Amino acid sequence: MRIDIMTLFPEMCERVLDESIIGRARRQGIISVECHNIRDYTSDRHRHVDDMPYGGGQGMLMKPEPVEACFEAVSAQCGARPFLIYMSPKGRVFNQSIARELLGMENICILCGHYEGIDQRIIDSMVDMELSVGDYVLTGGEMPALIVTDAVCRMVPGVLAEDVCFEEESHYSGLLEHPQYTRPPVWNGISVPEELLSGHHARITQWKRLKALEQTAKFRPDLLEGVELSPEEKDYLMEKQLI
Ligand code: SAM
Repeated sequence: MRIDIMTLFPEMCERVLDESIIGRARRQGIISVECHNIRDYTSDRHRHVDDMPYGGGQGMLMKPEPVEACFEAVSAQCGARPFLIYMSPKGRVFNQSIARELLGMENICILCGHYEGIDQRIIDSMVDMELSVGDYVLTGGEMPALIVTDAVCRMVPGVLAEDVCFEEESHYSGLLEHPQYTRPPVWNGISVPEELLSGHHARITQWKRLKALEQTAKFRPDLLEGVELSPEEKDYLMEKQLI
């Protein structure tokens, strides 16, 4: 899978993408993530990437020409036009199921806005999807682009040690993950739940499922709506007064 990020601050993205699991996967060639500086595609002497918005208003807006030229260069490098995502507080709110949707694409290009955003004509004529990372406004699309890149790339086979690593996590199955514990078995007088120490596979699996349901009912009851509960699971949640 290849992800291209178009930004005015490529070093900011590279710093993050070079680290940890994603950095290792890039070095091993399991994924390809390339950052492109939109400013390299300006044609004027002062390399302007922004201008004042028509009709007045606060701040500056990113100009369309350098963005278009940058995207053309990215498409040429990829050998095909990538699916273009614009990170924007007005977009669909990103979640695990959108991450899975994007995982099915061979080539994604993410456009990061800055300042007051970007000329609407770019969005109308070139952008395939607008994505938000939540109902708040950040200074730029770089962190949102890194969030999307990380969430998608970690599901590419070979990036994590095993696929089960992300399949068991929060949101993948539609539920929040069960609580996790590591050694020591007793810390500050608090014990690890005895089910996890039992060595009994079926008991552990059942415990994990019930606890995942409990966490979801407690913190994100909206996610439980589409979940089919067995009579035992219903009883468990009713006993805890969570449904
Ligand atoms: N004027 C814009 C508005 O009111 O919708 C906000 C512009 S914001 C200061 C600058 C850039 O940051 C945006 O173009 C976008 O790329 C990015 N950004 C800010 N908040 C975001 C969010 N919640 N999700 C995704 N991108 C965001």
